[in-house]
Amino acid sequence: MKKLIAGNWKMNGSLAANEALMGALRAGLSGPARDVAVCVPAPYLAQVGALAGDVIALGAQDVSAHEQGAYTGEVSAAMLRELGVRYAIVGHSERRQYHAESDAVVALKAQRALACGITPIVCVGETLAERETGDTENVVKRQLAAVIHANGHCISEVVVAYEPVWAIGTGKTATPQQAQQVHAVLRAQLHAASAHSDRIRILYGGSMNAGNAAELMTQPDIDGGLIGGASLKPEDFLKIIASAR
Ligand code: PEP
Repeated sequence: MKKLIAGNWKMNGSLAANEALMGALRAGLSGPARDVAVCVPAPYLAQVGALAGDVIALGAQDVSAHEQGAYTGEVSAAMLRELGVRYAIVGHSERRQYHAESDAVVALKAQRALACGITPIVCVGETLAERETGDTENVVKRQLAAVIHANGHCISEVVVAYEPVWAIGTGKTATPQQAQQVHAVLRAQLHAASAHSDRIRILYGGSMNAGNAAELMTQPDIDGGLIGGASLKPEDFLKIIASAR
């Protein structure tokens, strides 16, 4: 399966910084050996889409659970699609934590994205407290089950990202073995849900960087990465991309 490396810029960037970053990425990217995407703040989608060419796919960081109408501040899947968006992150832990997004809302967001031809990158992951009480598997399975339940036969069109909350932006990475263990659980769950589960990529995210990416991505069930901080540094992001084989 072709690996996917997706950058999550979070709430970072400016017109000038985006232009410099995209210029450096395009200059450093070679060959179609893996898929590359950048998930950028909504106001920059048009700009980055124009800079991305056809080697870097455009991604959003969120999508509304509603189709259209009186939802001030929301951005619909149809609007994203018009801007050429291919991927939309749903259920990032920062959205779950700061915006109280439930599993049900995340599942609806995935549904809206799929209905408009956008691939949702569905984030799941346990907090440190949940890991320490031995609840990791239950938590990620519950989070993924909501999306599977709402999306049925479309489930083979999603990307899943395992992002342990304790590893996001903290510099603490799951060991390759810890990550693989959870990825194998998610793989089995997807396999039970879809005859086409072999098409579903499961990314690891959480302080992935130029130094640890290669080892993480040699694990059998790690099909790429969702990268926050390091995706803003072109040299590091390019190294991560180069280590995905
Ligand atoms: C993320 O935001 O999805 C993420 C993995 O962040 P970081 O790489 O900075 O830990």
